[in-house]
Amino acid sequence: MEKVIDEKKQGSALAMEPIKENGRKLFIESYGCQMNFSDSEIVASILAKEGFNTTQTLEDADLVLVNTCSIRDKAELTVRKRLEKYNAVKRTNPKMKVGVLGCMAERLKEKFLEEEKIVDLVVGPDAYKDLPNLIEEIDEGRNAVNVILSKEETYGDISPVRLQSNGVSALVSITRGCDNMCTFCVVPFTRGRERSRNPQSILQEVEDLANKGYKEVTLLGQNVDSYLWYGGGLKKDFEKATEMQKATSVGFAQLLEMVTKSQPKMRVRFSTSNPQDMTLDVIETMAKYKNICNHIHLPVQSGSNRILKKMNRLHTREEYFELIDNIKKIIPDCAISQDMITGFPTETEEDHQDTLSLMEYVKYSFGFMFAYSERPGTLAGRKFEDDIPEKIKKRRLQEVIDLQQIHSRHRATQQIGKVVEVLVERESKKSNLHWSGRNSQSSTVIFPKENYKIGDFVNVKINDCTTATLLGEAVGYSDNN
Ligand code: SAM
Repeated sequence: MEKVIDEKKQGSALAMEPIKENGRKLFIESYGCQMNFSDSEIVASILAKEGFNTTQTLEDADLVLVNTCSIRDKAELTVRKRLEKYNAVKRTNPKMKVGVLGCMAERLKEKFLEEEKIVDLVVGPDAYKDLPNLIEEIDEGRNAVNVILSKEETYGDISPVRLQSNGVSALVSITRGCDNMCTFCVVPFTRGRERSRNPQSILQEVEDLANKGYKEVTLLGQNVDSYLWYGGGLKKDFEKATEMQKATSVGFAQLLEMVTKSQPKMRVRFSTSNPQDMTLDVIETMAKYKNICNHIHLPVQSGSNRILKKMNRLHTREEYFELIDNIKKIIPDCAISQDMITGFPTETEEDHQDTLSLMEYVKYSFGFMFAYSERPGTLAGRKFEDDIPEKIKKRRLQEVIDLQQIHSRHRATQQIGKVVEVLVERESKKSNLHWSGRNSQSSTVIFPKENYKIGDFVNVKINDCTTATLLGEAVGYSDNN
């Protein structure tokens, strides 16, 4: 599963079906995680009602919006470079307005207007419904800012337009914000406290997608296993809920079951799981329903108990192993993937070896690996010296990546000879004679097109693999069509 959106899609300008009556042109591009890409679909939906159609040509735009990421310094530098590019265009088209959305908007707030003179509009992740008013402000020549974080906003009532979608697979947000307070992470500061979306609005959105022909949904949140609906409000206020609210509350395993049962032909995925919140009932629900995909993205960040504690990850290495053992026992062919950070403050060679040995134990199918980047405002940023030299961070990162490559290939090789169900998503990037899709474990599978089409569920016999991709041939339709 592409938890971090494919590098090639980063910054791509998004396109939606034009509405005839709409006369203004919106250029919107997104950086960062799936959540940002999903949010841009909400923004496009709000702005479609305000007379905007999307354009993919920057120079034509009346309004340029960039949905930003703050997770690492590099992500912010990329956005600053884009702002320079908009600035150059604005010199030839002074009427063009530029707005910054998302995590960087939330982190820098008004500073953006001062530092980046070309920015007219700054909107945080919980304020998109205010966009019509904010745009009115900038139309009248004033700068506009709304970075208020909300206790309730889940955009449950907005039906997102699917931007640049393959028409097969869609992202559905189920929670917003995060309460975990990992010491390295900026998310709680940029996306606010955790709140869950009304299950009925989730079911409605999934039903709409099914009616439009979508075959797969990914339930999305910073920490999906922590999903808790008790009538609205912050997760941390659940204690104050009435007995009735508590008795009728819905947790993640229940939600997963509701979605799965409501659309038995639809594949259901979810991301991201935090080990401390993943419970056995979620794994058991996955095992019970064929249409829940056998893949869990389970970031661990480090294999060292000392570093896990310093990161405020609320589990130990041993507890993580117990969870992995349970997953493997209940769903033997479940793929597990990771996020890892190297060079967190004070990380020793011994801690790093603990990370490598943890990886040896799990043998992840794939992973997203990063060198630690200090983020202003986080607890680590305020309290811990960023004391691991860049060279060492990078060397450890490379060792982690190299080991992951070995494990990815090992996991891919295990698939050779098997027949797997693939949902066809797109043409292969390398050959127009081949389809590309994913199996239940989220591995990409490439096979000759024959007469199959995008959106078909096809049984594919795996004959070969590269590190990350399975290669095969179709043996027929699966019974899920
Ligand atoms: N709640 C999400 C999760 O658990 O996946 C966090 C989302 S974050 C976009 C994805 C990953 O970025 C994290 O799991 C972590 O590995 C990485 N990350 C977050 N903060 C970081 C930092 N300060 N430096 C390096 N990597 C970081």
